Amino acid sequence: PMTVNNDFLAQLNTSQRRAVEHFCGPLLVVAGAGSGKTRALTYRIAHLISYHQVEPESILAVTFTNKAAREMKERIEKLFAQEMAFKKHGIRFDLLNEYEQKQLLSKVYKSTTKKLWIGTFHSLCTRILRYDINKYQDERGRQWQRNFSIFDESDAQSLVKNIVTKQLNLDDKKFDPRSVRYQISNAKNLGLSPDQYLQKNPSYKSRVIAEVYNEYQSQLAANNALDFDDLILIPVRLFQQNESILGYWHSQFKHILVDEYQDTNQIQYELIRLLATNGETKKSEWNWQNRSIFVVGDADQSIYSFRMADFTILLNFQSDFGDGLPDDDTRTMVKLEENYRSRENILEAANHLIENNSQRIDKILKPTRGSGDFIYCYKADDEQIEAQLVIEHIQKLVRENPELNWGSFAILYRINAQSRPFEDRLIMNSIPYNIVGGFKFYDRQEIKDAIAYLRLIANPSDTVSLLRIINTPRRSIGKTSIESLLKAAQELEIPLWEIISDETSVNTLAGRAAKSVNKFAQMIKSFQEQLDSLSGAEILNQVMEASGYVDDLKQKGTEEADNRLANIFELYNAVLQFQEDSEDQSLQGFLSNASLASDLDDLKEGQEKVSLMTLHSAKGLEFPVVFLVGLEEGLLPHARSVSDPLSLEEERRLCYVGVTRAQEQLFLTYARERFVWGSKEAKMPSRFLQELPSDLIKSNVPPKVVKSRPSLTTSSPKILKQSNETWSVGDQVIHQVFGEGEITRILGSGKKSSLAIKFPGLGQKIIDPTIAPLKRN
Ligand code: ATP
Ligand code: MG
Repeated sequence: PMTVNNDFLAQLNTSQRRAVEHFCGPLLVVAGAGSGKTRALTYRIAHLISYHQVEPESILAVTFTNKAAREMKERIEKLFAQEMAFKKHGIRFDLLNEYEQKQLLSKVYKSTTKKLWIGTFHSLCTRILRYDINKYQDERGRQWQRNFSIFDESDAQSLVKNIVTKQLNLDDKKFDPRSVRYQISNAKNLGLSPDQYLQKNPSYKSRVIAEVYNEYQSQLAANNALDFDDLILIPVRLFQQNESILGYWHSQFKHILVDEYQDTNQIQYELIRLLATNGETKKSEWNWQNRSIFVVGDADQSIYSFRMADFTILLNFQSDFGDGLPDDDTRTMVKLEENYRSRENILEAANHLIENNSQRIDKILKPTRGSGDFIYCYKADDEQIEAQLVIEHIQKLVRENPELNWGSFAILYRINAQSRPFEDRLIMNSIPYNIVGGFKFYDRQEIKDAIAYLRLIANPSDTVSLLRIINTPRRSIGKTSIESLLKAAQELEIPLWEIISDETSVNTLAGRAAKSVNKFAQMIKSFQEQLDSLSGAEILNQVMEASGYVDDLKQKGTEEADNRLANIFELYNAVLQFQEDSEDQSLQGFLSNASLASDLDDLKEGQEKVSLMTLHSAKGLEFPVVFLVGLEEGLLPHARSVSDPLSLEEERRLCYVGVTRAQEQLFLTYARERFVWGSKEAKMPSRFLQELPSDLIKSNVPPKVVKSRPSLTTSSPKILKQSNETWSVGDQVIHQVFGEGEITRILGSGKKSSLAIKFPGLGQKIIDPTIAPLKRN
């Protein structure tokens, strides 16, 4: 392993350093946005390797996106390369020539970063399952093989739909397949099997859903396929049922690190817990020697509750993993209090906004970067004008500021559909842009076809893929022939491929189509035989030719067909790129990667582009200039959330995430009218705009009332009267989520007042007694 002299620690403040130098046992790092949590996590990995001589392969680091994982690896590579440049050449890395830089980076890659386990929960679990899934059996004895396919959301949806409408003949109004699918996914994210789900929710409806769930699992198993939820659920079950496999991975991963811990859900938590503790429930049995669990997060940025994320997991970290000794609290937690990302004005606005939430731990976030410009807020007549306004601003800023380029800008919105007017204008003005995590490249029809060919070659049991391409392009294999083949397979309970790959069976069953089916099977078989000798890229290239897919598109010659061809070529590039980046030539390797990638544009980086994305996708990122658009009631906060106080708080956290992405400059926009479902609708400005300090904002409409900002530091009344409760400082209260606490302060006055409450072990939180479930103790 590599040893270096840790000069990079100088790029950290004292608290970050404490976090980075933490070696064994549990540690929670909590802090607001932009305070260097992710930096601390990244540097800690480097420090573990370089200072503590930890083997890179024994480090498991969980990131929220694949892109974040890539960036983290690059960052670590750079840190080591910088240190080595000094040692080897005696000069700074950036003064080396390009060739020497590449040499160094590739050396670091081979010796270190390649061996690290950094990725999302999904990609890390996929890697584990590629080793061990064949040792797993579910509660009904279903099993999977190591060459399993990963079904994406649309594959999953159509399986469920098929079960609901065709197999069980249910009324799809009562049992909307999409909602059934959602229920199944939620059950999985809570770690529940069909039976356990039913036990927890005993009702007629649940019985049906459990039945669909059960059948759905059978069909996944029959296809040797997993959905995204299984990727995490199955390792957990496997670890629960097999001590020695858990023991193996427990001893493999000595140091576990999790970024964005506030958005962990129950099953992900369980996975982490098992790996860290070897499944031992008695704390006295835990051995933290040369072993650690290190998580970083910010409860104010918890925005994935619709995927069952639960920020109480973060709040519970210390009691879960700590030893409970008197000084435990300080040993197991580090708070970071300086913000290095945003200008003071942006930060102040963000802090001000989030203080309106009742469910939070109070935090300090000090600016370090000077006050910066005003925040600008623009009202537009409609969504077209809004887009025009934003694009004009981007052009103007690029013209006037040499340090800005297209890549400096992000346009953030609440829902995907909002991107279209912005895209139109960007295209009109020939500005390069990138939609992050939105419309997936891998969802396009021709890409799904190509992937289906590849999946079938890698995993012959994948009947869903087989059915997708058996007659695509048309090779005169008609519906009735396919159905009779399929029926036989179902009766025999074997994968369709086993029938199709057997000439005799095909001749018996497929009638006039037999010849075509055999020819098709022969073609696929020849690739299956070459699975180990050909690279993924070669297989893709050859199968697209051999199957007639490419010819078919060429013959069509329409513009659409040309686009599809171009996309297939793009896919080929993606495979090559993957093989180069990962040094993994196998088709299997590429397929896993493709299923988990959210966007092809992620794969080709380099060109500077304006980024467009939803607020959910923006977590953890930062941009010099941010446009937070569509700040309207019904959009942000979303209409679905306005009636539920807890959902409303999540919307506010989303807004907070958006505001805190900005480094230099923040623009807020909203429209007076907007096209919704085909008709114009009048819109009101978002309530969140009013929660921002008006003296920091310049707006193109004069504010109606100039409100003075309620300040937390001015003297507050000692008593707060509300309709039927009177709260005073010193009162003992019980909060439904945080437990017992004491009122330490009353903040603000009138309708906007709130209580500061100290909860033992959790610190002080600001709570709005009209919203929060609060009782007198
Ligand atoms: P988020 O909550 O949004 O994920 P974060 O806490 O993970 O934010 P980082 O992304 O790690 O914050 O850091 C924010 C910015 O501040 C980055 O550009 C990072 O490089 C920079 N930064 C972090 N720590 C320091 C430091 N000690 N000195 C200077 N810059 C720093
Ligand atoms: Mg971060």
